[in-house]
Amino acid sequence: MTEIHLVPCLKDNYAYILHEPRTRAVAVVDPSEAAPVIDALRARGLALTHILNTHHHFDHTGGNLELKERTGARIIGPRADADRIPGIDIQVGQGDLVAIGTAIARVYDIPAHTRGHIAFWFEEAKAVFTGDTMFAMGCGRLFEGTPDQMWQSLSTLARLPADTRVYCGHEYTQSNGRFALSLEPGNADLVARMKEVDDLRQRGLPTIPSTIGLELKTNPFLRPDSDELRRTLKMERAAVVEVFAETRRRKDVF
Ligand code: ZN
Ligand code: FE
Repeated sequence: MTEIHLVPCLKDNYAYILHEPRTRAVAVVDPSEAAPVIDALRARGLALTHILNTHHHFDHTGGNLELKERTGARIIGPRADADRIPGIDIQVGQGDLVAIGTAIARVYDIPAHTRGHIAFWFEEAKAVFTGDTMFAMGCGRLFEGTPDQMWQSLSTLARLPADTRVYCGHEYTQSNGRFALSLEPGNADLVARMKEVDDLRQRGLPTIPSTIGLELKTNPFLRPDSDELRRTLKMERAAVVEVFAETRRRKDVF
C-alpha cells in the first residue's frame, strides 16, 4: 500500500513524500526546499528515487537541484514548462503515465495558475497532487491563464472519484474557508468543515488531505451552480464561467 507523508516547508507550503514499499520507490512532490525533505526521508529510512513537480514556481521546485545532487533522484515535470523546471529529466503532459515503482500516476494538464501546471493522479492510491490549482476550499491565482482555463482545469479534477484524496501545495484552508463562508453562509457542509478546520489549526495541525467529494460540497470555486452563491453575487442568471470568474475576482481582494 502506497504511503503519503506530509512535509511542511517554508511558511505554508507542503511537500509530500510518496513511498511505494514493494519496490522501495520514493517520490517527493513539489519540494520547495531540500532540508526538511532530507530530514523526513532520514527519519523514515527512505532513499529518494523521484522528484515530481506540478509547476515551475520556486516554492514548488526550490529543492530540486540539491535533492537531485544528494540522492540522484530523477526529476519529472510539465513538458509545457520544461525550460522553467530546474534539473528536469523527464517531461510529461496530458495522459502520460508516471511509474513510482508499482504506483502509477496519470498526468493531467491543468493550466491557468501557470501555463504548464500539471496534476498527478494515483488512481490505486486514491490520491491527486493538485499543486496551486485546487486548494482545500480554494483555487490558485490566475498568473498565466484565463478564468475559462482555470474553470476547465478545476472541472478536470472535480471529475475524479469522490473518494480521491486531494494533496495541494499550501495550507491556505482556513482563510479560504472564511472567504467561502462569506459567499455561502447557509451551506451546512461548509459550516461543519470550518469548525473542524478551525479546531485543527488551533492545535497546529494540517488540514490536508481533503477529498474531491468534500471539495464539491464546500469549495466555492467548484460551486458556480449554487443558488446561494449566485444570490450573494447577484448573478442568478449568469453563465457558470462568469460566476466562477467573479468568485475568483472577489477572492483577489478579500
Ligand atoms: Zn504556484
Ligand atoms: Fe505555491
